[in-house]
Amino acid sequence: MHRDMGDRRIGMTTIKTTCGHCGDIHLTPDDVALELRPGGREGDYRFKCPSCTEQQRRPANSRVVSVLLATGVAYEVVNPDPITEAEIMAFTTALDSEPDPLRLLAG
Ligand SMILES: [Zn+2]
Repeated sequence: MHRDMGDRRIGMTTIKTTCGHCGDIHLTPDDVALELRPGGREGDYRFKCPSCTEQQRRPANSRVVSVLLATGVAYEVVNPDPITEAEIMAFTTALDSEPDPLRLLAG
């Protein structure tokens, strides 16, 4: 019995958003990818405008997140502030040039 899947086609969910070039556009859940911050209440969503095909990214507050999840949009949890290699290098370099590393930690 797959009656539910058949019924979904009747009311295919569309997500209304705006494109910076085209104005109001309608997306399907397949067009959207949601990136949730750890905690899962807010994040960003990416989509490709069906009209101009430009890839775009928008912030998603908790309300937008719940709407997108309800429509079946795929999501992933991302870390918004990973420590970059450049930051690690800068810290390591600072330690190397500092005769007394404990002074760095003391501020
Ligand atoms: Zn567009």
